Amino acid sequence: MQQDSFRDVIYDAVVIGGGPSGATAADQLARAGFSVLLADREGRIKPCGGAVPPRLIRDYAIPDHLIVAKVKGAQIIAPSNKRVDMPIENDGYVGMVDREDFDPWLRDRAAASGADRITGTFEHYAREGSVSVLSFATGAHGIVKIRSRFVIGADGANSTVARMAVPRAGKPKYVFAYHEIVEAPPSGAHYHPERCDVYYQGRFSPDFYAWIFPHGGKASIGTGTAHKGFSLRSAIGDLREALGLSECRTIRREGAPIPLKPLKTWDNGRDVVLCGDAAGVVAPASGEGIYYAMLCGEIVARAVGEAIRTNDAHALASARKSFMKLHGRVFMALGFLQAFWYRNDWLREKFVAMCGDKDVQTLTWQAYMDKELVRREKLAHLRVMLKDIGVFLGFTPKLEKRSG
Ligand SMILES: Cc1cc2nc3c(=O)[nH]c(=O)nc-3n(C[C@H](O)[C@H](O)[C@H](O)COP(=O)(O)OP(=O)(O)OC[C@H]3O[C@@H](n4cnc5c(N)ncnc54)[C@H](O)[C@@H]3O)c2cc1C
Repeated sequence: MQQDSFRDVIYDAVVIGGGPSGATAADQLARAGFSVLLADREGRIKPCGGAVPPRLIRDYAIPDHLIVAKVKGAQIIAPSNKRVDMPIENDGYVGMVDREDFDPWLRDRAAASGADRITGTFEHYAREGSVSVLSFATGAHGIVKIRSRFVIGADGANSTVARMAVPRAGKPKYVFAYHEIVEAPPSGAHYHPERCDVYYQGRFSPDFYAWIFPHGGKASIGTGTAHKGFSLRSAIGDLREALGLSECRTIRREGAPIPLKPLKTWDNGRDVVLCGDAAGVVAPASGEGIYYAMLCGEIVARAVGEAIRTNDAHALASARKSFMKLHGRVFMALGFLQAFWYRNDWLREKFVAMCGDKDVQTLTWQAYMDKELVRREKLAHLRVMLKDIGVFLGFTPKLEKRSG
């Protein structure tokens, strides 16, 4: 559709932001037969480590060509440089996606399902009778106004939609994350193309973690923190130097906030609802947001579909309830985990020791890969809890010490 012809249409829904969350919401609404417009400003690759669980690949039918690396395990590194290997059992893997290809592919899929698209930066929201009027700056076409019955704000952690149309949602709690995309180094002591390395060391992050994620011919080396005075760029420089990775060619340097707590309200009770990072939906402790953004997009699309069908905006509030019912407890547990174990190097050392335990590894991978825990493993939960207490009291499992 030509951009100037939008003016005559009243959409059932306009989705602002074509990242994983918005593209999924638009795809679902289009498949359900609603008229939907997906708007994205385009032109900037989302800074992201790009690790996605098999559950996402399965549920959202992600084709294999978008998975640039298959990671078979993780290595967790303590402040003392002790390393714990966490292999993934049963041939499982974590998928790595490049956001410069992943996001456009998701937007194209939404269009193939029937969503209209516009390239433009959302600037203003107003009401005109019973519809919302959205203004987009589109460059060549100037300001384009779009009318819609409902609006989905999927425009990321710095959401303009939230600020403008859902002020009661408040500001999210977040860490600022920064990474450098480098040409992948050769496989060696501090890098393996099928392994994610996670550094729990205060010098690289005082309250989160630093990482090295493989991406085929590239790698992401990054870190995050909520501390304003901490220099993320220096921390990554130091990490690269410590690991002998300073000489790898740097392709991009970029950063963005990661929200770490779902906002208390996602909708304005009338026509606008937030999803993905805009709603604060990222797992604390890990910063995993892509799966939750897509699930959130799906759940929000369902709520908006219901609101359109019944002409009742109350349905919008059901989105947050449904999401929190599925993942609220896990988010709370991960929030406690981060607040407790990431506080100082003494606790981080014990946390890494705990990750050496077989039961902890099985439960961690199961929770990450499938996003659900098998009920029959309740005894394992109990064992893990007792071991947690043991580790805290000083009964740490033996770890291998390596240089680095
Ligand atoms: C450095 C870093 C590393 C990360 N690593 C991982 C990881 O390995 N695995 C993981 O699962 N998660 C990771 N995350 C989190 C993950 O990237 C986000 O949670 C996820 O991208 C959220 O998706 P979204 O669609 O809600 O928002 P976004 O991906 O931020 O998409 C928002 C979209 O809105 C568009 N937009 C914004 N403003 C406007 C506007 N005014 N008008 C029009 N369009 C607009 C943008 O162009 C963008 O396409 C990481 C985040 C960072 C910052």
